[in-house]
Formats: sequence, C-alpha cells, structure tokens
Amino acid sequence: METVEVHPHSFSSESWPFADPINTLAYASSQVLNGRPILLVFHDHDGEWQFLTGEDREECKIICLGCAFERDAALAGLAAMPIGWMAYRASMDKSWQCEPYEDSDGVED
Ligand SMILES: [Zn+2]
Repeated sequence: METVEVHPHSFSSESWPFADPINTLAYASSQVLNGRPILLVFHDHDGEWQFLTGEDREECKIICLGCAFERDAALAGLAAMPIGWMAYRASMDKSWQCEPYEDSDGVED
C-alpha cells in the first residue's frame, strides 16, 4: 500500500478507525476537495480508497486516508469494509449502504 508523507491531522491517533495507516495514499475527487459531501466510496480491488460525491465527471486527486477522515468522521463506519466493496448514501445524514462490486473498466477513476 502506498503512503504519502506523514503530516499532522486534527484528530487524535486513538480515534483512528482504519486498519490502514493514517497516511495511506487515497483518492478524492476535486468536488470532495472543494467541500462537497462524500457520498460514494470505493475500496477498490487494488486496496485503494476512493472518496467521491457520485457526480458526473469526477477527477481524482491524491489525498491521504487521514485527510479524508478529517473531512468526514462518518467514514469510520466504513473502516471494516473489505477490498472490492463500495459504499454509498443519499446524503450525509443517511447511513452507508455497502455492497461488493465487480472489478471492471466501467468504474471511473
Ligand atoms: Zn492527511
């Protein structure tokens, strides 16, 4: 698993819910980085996490898993989601729906 350079986050390391290290390389769309809610998450078949809004034409940028959790602590609910699964929710106050998905070219980066 790739990582990014270690950098500070606002949460305490005891509250870290994921098995992956805090500085695990992850992807977020520019919409998410601009403050839109994370409504679609892939734990892709390579083991990488992707955080998306589910809108069309999302372009992924590199962040770290810690930065994603910092944006939305509700991601803690996905910490145990296996590789090859996706999660989605209708809005930030709804709970996650998780299901496995096929590894295919139809999944946008
Ligand atoms: Zn970070």
